[in-house]
Amino acid sequence: MTDPSTASTLVPGSPSGEDFDPTAALAAVATALDAADPLARFTSRFAASPGVVAYLDGNSLGRPVADLAARMTRFIEHDWGTRLIRGWDEGWMRRPFDLGDRLGRVALGAAPGQTFIGDSTTVLIYKLVRAALAGRPGRTELVVGDDDFPTDRYIVEGIAAEAGATVRWVPTDPAGGVTPELVAEVLSERTAVVLLSHVAYRSGFAADVPEITRLAHAAGALVVWDLCHSAGVLPIGLDEWGVDLAVGCTYKYLNGGPGAPAFGYVRAALQDELRQPIQGWMGHADVFAMGPGYEPAPDVRRFVSGTPAILAMEAMDATLDLVEEAGVAAIHAKSRALTDFAERALGVHVLPHGARLVSPPAGARRGSHLTVAHPSFREVTARLWERGVIPDFRAPDGIRIGLSPLSTTFAEVEAGVRAIGEELRAAATGATSPGSTA
Ligand SMILES: *Cc1c(COP(=O)(O)O)cnc(C)c1O
Repeated sequence: MTDPSTASTLVPGSPSGEDFDPTAALAAVATALDAADPLARFTSRFAASPGVVAYLDGNSLGRPVADLAARMTRFIEHDWGTRLIRGWDEGWMRRPFDLGDRLGRVALGAAPGQTFIGDSTTVLIYKLVRAALAGRPGRTELVVGDDDFPTDRYIVEGIAAEAGATVRWVPTDPAGGVTPELVAEVLSERTAVVLLSHVAYRSGFAADVPEITRLAHAAGALVVWDLCHSAGVLPIGLDEWGVDLAVGCTYKYLNGGPGAPAFGYVRAALQDELRQPIQGWMGHADVFAMGPGYEPAPDVRRFVSGTPAILAMEAMDATLDLVEEAGVAAIHAKSRALTDFAERALGVHVLPHGARLVSPPAGARRGSHLTVAHPSFREVTARLWERGVIPDFRAPDGIRIGLSPLSTTFAEVEAGVRAIGEELRAAATGATSPGSTA
């Protein structure tokens, strides 16, 4: 992987020279980085998006892979259309676990029998946190970050209210994230469950999962990690890190499509002792016995509730082909190069207009998106979307720039960040930007 500082030496002219043009120099760096990118071939394996100049939101909704339409047609005509109900016996019953095992192997560092594709992330967080709380009888506190994604906070508040537990908030810097020190301060012999995000949805801060997991265990608690913003882009070692439970989205870096079902992970050693609260027929020890009384399956299947969303698993399976071919290590290396380059581009085009970077510095604590803040960003984002430059806006004043290494090019980042700068300048002067159609 070429890093931006090396690539800049490929650019003629010196930054101190008279006719140095930082905009042209940056564009040349982007070209050099794309030319040297060992994963460049993957960008053409995604469906074209006519009219899109820069897609900087793959961390919120990944793009579809190029052969997905053919794959869906094959599924509809053959698997569903021809096999009909026989499909359940011929593979669909196993599909949430087969695909879970594959995801575990390719992206999560999880041995087989621990990962499954299930409900939405929200519902899975509820099921696994509730199961973990029940698994620590006598303990009454739930730990969650006070700046974590809303659904995570709301679910924990709801569980606390329903179970008579208390929420202990980890006070989190919105530009940073949860550190072992901050978590250690709220842990005690009362802590039942710790729910935290591996990568903060706002700042992109990557938490020290092994160390925080170790601290939670030392306090006697179980830990549930939310991997929504890290699965498929950061190296993850659930087994090696001793993680108890985990949940994650599949429509972000795993390109599963809008509303694709989430995955859950339950460490093998815990499966027997934990029971989840939505006891449906699909988690029963003998699904087709249709008998009285619920008895949970002896394995990871007990965490499933109802009929799995088979059709909605095709896109993530197609993406796993690409993730497996590229390898998470190479994907992460490109993620770092993209975020470093994006930071540099922000320095040229955006920060001079008074915007602030509210993400961690380059290094181990950085995920695959950057957030930059400015009071005008709500209106700026609307203008950007009109011109095909698509980051996302996060209240109150943040633009998130998501870098999805398999599909994002350096040129796209350069064009997108330059457009943010143009719209900021236009917003400040009340002028019409060069890219505006109005
Ligand atoms: C995206 C995201 C979710 C989304 O949950 P859904 O149930 O899919 O809506 C939850 N938690 C985090 C941290 C996220 O980033």
